[in-house]
Order: sequence, then structure tokens, then C-alpha cells
Amino acid sequence: MKYLIGNHKMNLSEAELKSYFKSLKKIAKNSSNFVGVCVPYVYLPLANKMCKNTKIHYGAQNMFYEKNGAFTGEISADMLKDFNTEMVIIGHSERRNIFKETDELVNKKVLSALANNLKPIICVGETKDERENKQTNKVLKTQIKKALANVEAQSLNQIIFAYEPVWAIGTGVSATVEVAEKTIKFIKEIIAKMYDLQDLNKIIVLYGGSLNEKNGFELLSQSHIDGGLIGGASLKTEKFEKIINIKI
Ligand code: PEP
Repeated sequence: MKYLIGNHKMNLSEAELKSYFKSLKKIAKNSSNFVGVCVPYVYLPLANKMCKNTKIHYGAQNMFYEKNGAFTGEISADMLKDFNTEMVIIGHSERRNIFKETDELVNKKVLSALANNLKPIICVGETKDERENKQTNKVLKTQIKKALANVEAQSLNQIIFAYEPVWAIGTGVSATVEVAEKTIKFIKEIIAKMYDLQDLNKIIVLYGGSLNEKNGFELLSQSHIDGGLIGGASLKTEKFEKIINIKI
């Protein structure tokens, strides 16, 4: 079983998402994979309605860590739960880069998501410069350690990690299979070491960054890659379906 989770970002209208869910419902029904989609906040009521009694898992793309208060424009974990939201992307590189989210903020959001029974999808990844300067391992180690500060071992099975090299997101150029597999194994080893775990298979890490129906088979065939966080190629069910139906 692989996790195939779409990240719609700021895309699709309500009408488009309605027909999207109608098609995805059938695709998910016939799949043994975990099929998920993270939609803009305003479409969570629609997801709640349309994904009920289906095999589609849905989530939000962000949240704030406080319970309530004077935080104009923000959405709390409780509000997400009001619409039976199961997952929430935290620390996506677009949030880190455009909205200047820090590792400390990511950690607060992770703790709040876990406390509210949401599955955080924690995104980590290096920039092109960092990779070229051989900083990848150092950057990932810092992002992971800071994201997981004060997270208890028993919460790990509630977390999905996503390795998303920034240089591969939305560029059409994915990481090579070798790089993706090696880096994901490294991520699992860091987490295993932090929590004294013997079995790397207990840690779920997805690959994200220009994963599509063409390169999906190779990437998803790797033993440490537990699935994909998929942006562009998840926006049309015809494309997403081809990834969901890849036979490993
Ligand atoms: C993403 O934004 O999480 C992502 C992986 O995007 P894309 O697949 O479009 O590179």
C-alpha cells in the first residue's frame, strides 16, 4: 500500500472540485492505496460532504497552532476538526519561503495538530543551493529535529513525512530515483535514531516534487519511498488516476 496524496495548493473552483471528487470517489474505491487530497480551507465543508462514506482521505494545507483569539486570517486545528479533517500539511516549502514560516513555527503547528488528532504531513527539503553546497543532510537533520521537538514517540505513527526537494517542486524535474531513495532512507535513519527505533518501516516518508504518471512507477517502486505528495499531477483526476493505479 502506498500513500498518494494530492496537494491542490490554491487551485480549482468549487464546481471543478465537485466533479473532481465524483471521479476520485470511483478511483479510490477500486484502489488498495491510501488516496488523499489536501484542499484549500474553504472547500473543507465540501470535502466533508462529498468524501463521507468514500475511500478518499482529505486534509488541509496549513493551520495555526493557537486554539482561538486575535489571529486574523488564521484557522485552528479545532476548526479543521469541525469538518472532520483528517490530515494537514505543515511546513510546505511554499509556506516556508513565501510566508517565512520557521522551523519553530512548524514545530508549534505539529504539536497542535497532534494534540487535536490530526495527521500532520510534515514537509522537509533542501534548496538547489543547499544541495549544490552539499548541505542537504545538515538542512534535513535540522528541519526534522526542530519539527519534532517535544513530540512523543507514540505520536510518530500519527505523522506522515514528505521529502520535498525545493528545486523539484513544480519544476517538472523530479529528483532521480537514487537521490529520492537515498535521501528518504537518510530521513528515516535520523528519526529512528532520535526515537531509538529499530524498524525503519514504521516511519512513513513520501516523496514530493514533480512526481507524475511518467516517473511515478520508478519512484514509487523504491522500498523506502512510501508514496507521493503530488501537486500539479493531482489537479486532474485523469492524471492522478494513472499514478494511483500504478502497480508495484
Ligand atoms: C507539492 O507542492 O507538494 C508538490 C510536490 O508539487 P509538484 O508535484 O507540482 O512538484
